[in-house]
Amino acid sequence: MREGIIFIVSGPSGSGKTTLTKRVTRVIDNLRFSVSYTTRRPRPGEIDGVDYRFISKEQFENMVQNGRFVEWATVHGNLYGTPTEELERAKSSGVDLILDIDVQGARSIKDRYGSGVYIFITPSSVGALKDRLVERKEGMADITKRLENARKEIEEIRLYDYIIINNSIDEAVENLASVIRAERCKRERIIESLKDGFWNDR
Ligand code: 5GP
Repeated sequence: MREGIIFIVSGPSGSGKTTLTKRVTRVIDNLRFSVSYTTRRPRPGEIDGVDYRFISKEQFENMVQNGRFVEWATVHGNLYGTPTEELERAKSSGVDLILDIDVQGARSIKDRYGSGVYIFITPSSVGALKDRLVERKEGMADITKRLENARKEIEEIRLYDYIIINNSIDEAVENLASVIRAERCKRERIIESLKDGFWNDR
């Protein structure tokens, strides 16, 4: 059995990456969404344990103290963290994992693990990004903050192996699924398991 692959997806707020990462898990088998911990409040429709694990600042700080996060960061004033156990479990069980995390988180995971497939999602222009944030009814101050953040995130684009331009959600889901399928076919990932079984008669 091969190790689970870690797919790290980042992109500016309003790029549609959360919708994309969730949708791709419905299209691709054997791929799990990594549920992060956060101190932000749930938005309408969000489910604890499905979208995030919503916890208090004290609980979060306790988890940091106990080394329960592979990485954590402050994003737009709230704390977010990726649980170590989620990554370890995926790696050892051979199930691929998809993480929706910010650029700081992606950098930490790259420094710490070295492996993983890094994918950046973006609309084709800052105008399109602004329209999405307005559509989502974010306040003006928040929109300015998120656009400023987007500028910083795009500066880090070299960290990523793939860029997916999200102008049409269906096409973007298909492109993300294609990246995952192609990564699964990489020689170095399957050569060992193929060698073991290839000369068996059946
Ligand atoms: P939102 O609050 O809109 O769901 O997410 C805000 C930002 O936090 C997004 O860019 C999202 O990718 C990022 N994020 C979500 N979970 C994590 C995490 O565990 N670690 C880090 N570093 N960022 C996260």
